[in-house]
Amino acid sequence: MLKKTSLIFFISFCLFICLLTTVSYSVNKPSLYNNTHPVTTGNTISILLLDGLSQSIFEQNLQANKLPNLKKLIQSGTYVKNGIGAFPSMTGYAFYPFITGKDASTSGIYGLRWFDRNLDKGNLRNYVGRTNIHMNRDINPQQKNIFELSGDQYTCSINSYMNKGVKESALTGWRHTTSKFKHTPLFRFLAAIPYFGKRITADFFEHETYAMDLAKKQLEQNPKVQWVTLPSLDAMNHIHGTTANYATLLTHIDSLIGNFVQTIDNLGQSDTRAIAIITDHGISDVHQNIDLRKNFKQGLGLALKRGVSVHLLTDALETPLEEFENKDGYFVINGNLSAYLYMRNPIEKDTKLSWRKKLLSPQLQAYSTAKGDRNLLHFLAQQEGIGLLAAQQNDSTIWIQLDDQTATITNFKNSYVYMPISGDPLGYSNDTLASKLLDNQFHSADTWLAHTIQTDYPDAIYRLYELMSKPDVGDLLICSKKGYDLAANYELFVGNYKGGHGGLHKDLLKVPYILYLPNQASKQLEFARSEEVGEMIMAYLFN
Ligand SMILES: [Zn+2]
Repeated sequence: MLKKTSLIFFISFCLFICLLTTVSYSVNKPSLYNNTHPVTTGNTISILLLDGLSQSIFEQNLQANKLPNLKKLIQSGTYVKNGIGAFPSMTGYAFYPFITGKDASTSGIYGLRWFDRNLDKGNLRNYVGRTNIHMNRDINPQQKNIFELSGDQYTCSINSYMNKGVKESALTGWRHTTSKFKHTPLFRFLAAIPYFGKRITADFFEHETYAMDLAKKQLEQNPKVQWVTLPSLDAMNHIHGTTANYATLLTHIDSLIGNFVQTIDNLGQSDTRAIAIITDHGISDVHQNIDLRKNFKQGLGLALKRGVSVHLLTDALETPLEEFENKDGYFVINGNLSAYLYMRNPIEKDTKLSWRKKLLSPQLQAYSTAKGDRNLLHFLAQQEGIGLLAAQQNDSTIWIQLDDQTATITNFKNSYVYMPISGDPLGYSNDTLASKLLDNQFHSADTWLAHTIQTDYPDAIYRLYELMSKPDVGDLLICSKKGYDLAANYELFVGNYKGGHGGLHKDLLKVPYILYLPNQASKQLEFARSEEVGEMIMAYLFN
């Protein structure tokens, strides 16, 4: 017990020093581009991302007139009522479509954590903590984003690691950490230090105010592109679940946005500056945190590795592949409600080669264990708390399973057919519109989107196929059932989360977007994918 407490204290202390250094550096350093960058030309944008924005809570509060500033932007801008976020529904990764206009599954990375089978060391790409710097390095260099396309003009971001090419990157890491873990003994102790305590800690409300104050300072330099992540809605849900405070925080953010719009006006930028209010994913509360490594050990005699959730002490990802010699699989958590499973090929004796190639569903359905061949898909589907599963079946087909219901998604020339085998895992047959597409015919991605928007799994055909057909994605995609989290005792300081994201359910994938473009007529779009909003942003900035 004592050992655990001192370890936590030691880690916290290191975290404190690291973050304090980072924060004071990034916030206090003189702007590199102050007065040296060329004058901003043409249209500009400020993108405010409200991390973990629940569509239903947003709509309730909008209708109750509790979000007057967002309402104003909706009435004068483009309102995407049912936006479709990236899948997995993950922070950072899900920013990609907005800055490139492309589906996140083409970014070269597959979430906030994934396993790169091609490397000899550092295979587990975990972008949480100090290793966040690898996100910009790992993404596809061919695809230029809006920071890179702005050339030498001043661009800036607050709290983003998906910002390759940005000229100034500010972080509020320490304040964010203190607000997220404010209720834990260590941070309660820090906050209680007379005078100093108040200055070095923040709550969720103070954090968002602080971040928006920084954003207003950046505005003075008229950034071509400005990206601001407001992380507290997401953090609050992870730590506390959805309480009444979530809506109160949302109204606080609304008032900060009102003030921000006023600042744009005061600075004389309102004729050229677009404002995007977006989010990366929704939220879902959990009441049970599970650890599938136990199920695999007990049920199949297979050893899965999970890795740490956060890298605090190093920014290097260097664990050699040889270290996986005694492991059968790697369990990679995203948002805690979805995970990838990368399995070792049990037939291949050479350690390195045994990790190199994605296993297809027929191999997973007859996976060799000491107890004989086992059907991993069937095994997983039977475990408590396990929801939708997906794996690649062959070059053009994805296998999906929920409990004992199975189906396939097949692609041919950018059209997709959904073929239930037993039951209907996506539940499309229960929806008047979606059931029209259960005709064994191929339909375009946009037809699928339009017909599935009101189901529990909106746009799942396109999102699942495009993700699971990539060679470097996990062999298996695992989503939890509603109320379950896949990361028991995984998180720093708190162990278990009370809310999360990462999955494919509408609560996580379907979110609102607002894009205000100066001097353009207001309109409402019933649905649009995040990459389409990214395309609109790019057209506004560079056409
Ligand atoms: Zn999150």
